[in-house]
Amino acid sequence: MNHDDLRHWSKVAADWAHDYHAGLRDRPVRAPLVPGAIAAQLPPAAPEAAEPMQAIFDDFARIVPPGMTHWQHPRFFAYFPANAAPASMLAEQLANAIAAQGMLWQTSPAATEIEQVMMRWLRDALGLAGHFTGTIHDSATTATLSAVLTMRERALGWQGLADGLSGQPRLRLYASAETHSSVDKAARVAGIGQANLVKIATDAAHALDPAALDAAIRADLATGFRPAGVVLCAGGTSIGAFDRIGDSIAVAKAHGLPVHVDAAWAGSAMICPEFRHLWEGIDGADSVVFNPHKWLGAQFDCAVQFLADPGPQIRTLGLRPTYLETAGAEEITNFNEWTVPLGRRFRALKLWFLMRAYGLEGLRARIRNHVAWAGDAAAALAALPGVTITTPPALSLFTFALADDAATEGLLARINDDGRIYLTQTRHQGRYVIRVQVGQFDCTADDVAVIARVVAELR
Ligand SMILES: *Cc1c(COP(=O)(O)O)cnc(C)c1O
Repeated sequence: MNHDDLRHWSKVAADWAHDYHAGLRDRPVRAPLVPGAIAAQLPPAAPEAAEPMQAIFDDFARIVPPGMTHWQHPRFFAYFPANAAPASMLAEQLANAIAAQGMLWQTSPAATEIEQVMMRWLRDALGLAGHFTGTIHDSATTATLSAVLTMRERALGWQGLADGLSGQPRLRLYASAETHSSVDKAARVAGIGQANLVKIATDAAHALDPAALDAAIRADLATGFRPAGVVLCAGGTSIGAFDRIGDSIAVAKAHGLPVHVDAAWAGSAMICPEFRHLWEGIDGADSVVFNPHKWLGAQFDCAVQFLADPGPQIRTLGLRPTYLETAGAEEITNFNEWTVPLGRRFRALKLWFLMRAYGLEGLRARIRNHVAWAGDAAAALAALPGVTITTPPALSLFTFALADDAATEGLLARINDDGRIYLTQTRHQGRYVIRVQVGQFDCTADDVAVIARVVAELR
């Protein structure tokens, strides 16, 4: 296959993609398969001889779509969304066509400079203060790891990088149990250790209790631990919990500790000014992560980290060996120095296309609809006998359950085998509950209304 063939097959693929999206509502949302069903259809070894593209494409069209869970299905209400707006898909096609690697400014000035401008556009769109700068990571997990590594090095006076962790004081991190498992992963991978991630008690609203945070830091200081930082949650994955950001930051700052805020899902909603009270005080954070690849519409992968001062993170993650130097330009931004990987895709292009093609007003309208429709769905479910709303809508996420765990689990299995909608579960206060989040880019009020109909039928 050469570039002339690629021209032809790109057009075939574009037509296929259009028809795939147009037909999504007729497919089951979740792949109705047993493990191994797809692998069994592939030969055991790679071909020695080249195969015609027609055969490859036919196999793709036959084998792959039935083996996919359709994240762009308008009735995908599971996990969180992984939205891919059409304009973002187009930008990804163009970025793929150029196939550049944007590790340094000079390895693609447009990639770095458009990323810088997009970080300003997004910062302002979210209502964040003008001192924040930002960068794009592959995932919120990596952004949080970067923030935690920076906390570690700050706490160790930058000695961990040079000497390793043995013989260093025992560091402590603080977060509530509502934070995502990526915080646990960061504590583990950063060499701080799960046991040193202190899970602070939450209040009746499932927010970290700032007084309990203060007490935990004081107790650790008294016993010789060294506090390194606080990770706050703005829109937790399980039930959408929000910590009291400003109050908690005040406690951290009183102890001189940096704060990272995980708003991976809910950050997108902050383009709507009426939701910003949920993270009031955010401008005091040192680091904030949010995923445009969840709710906003810039397809995976695109996780944005805003930094009050990128200096400490660059000092932690940045290396500039001779082969990565740019002659005569010491002060340019080389985004690889802000992140864990060296290589980086041109992810800013899809943000540029997305914000221009829909406008912030168009993106806000979608998020406002999702929040309103989630409220309608919760009300419709609450009206069904035997159904309890276990946590009310936090933005567009709520949970519900039947009388006991076994009944709830059985209902979820029937819902997902049915295929018209897709929901997932969590455990909240010991109880097995079903999560509903509304957020797919193209979903309509009618799609959301199907949730209550399906539950009423299958309950
Ligand atoms: C999804 C999610 C993450 C992890 O996001 P990735 O980009 O997949 O690493 C972290 N925190 C919260 C609150 C999330 O919802």
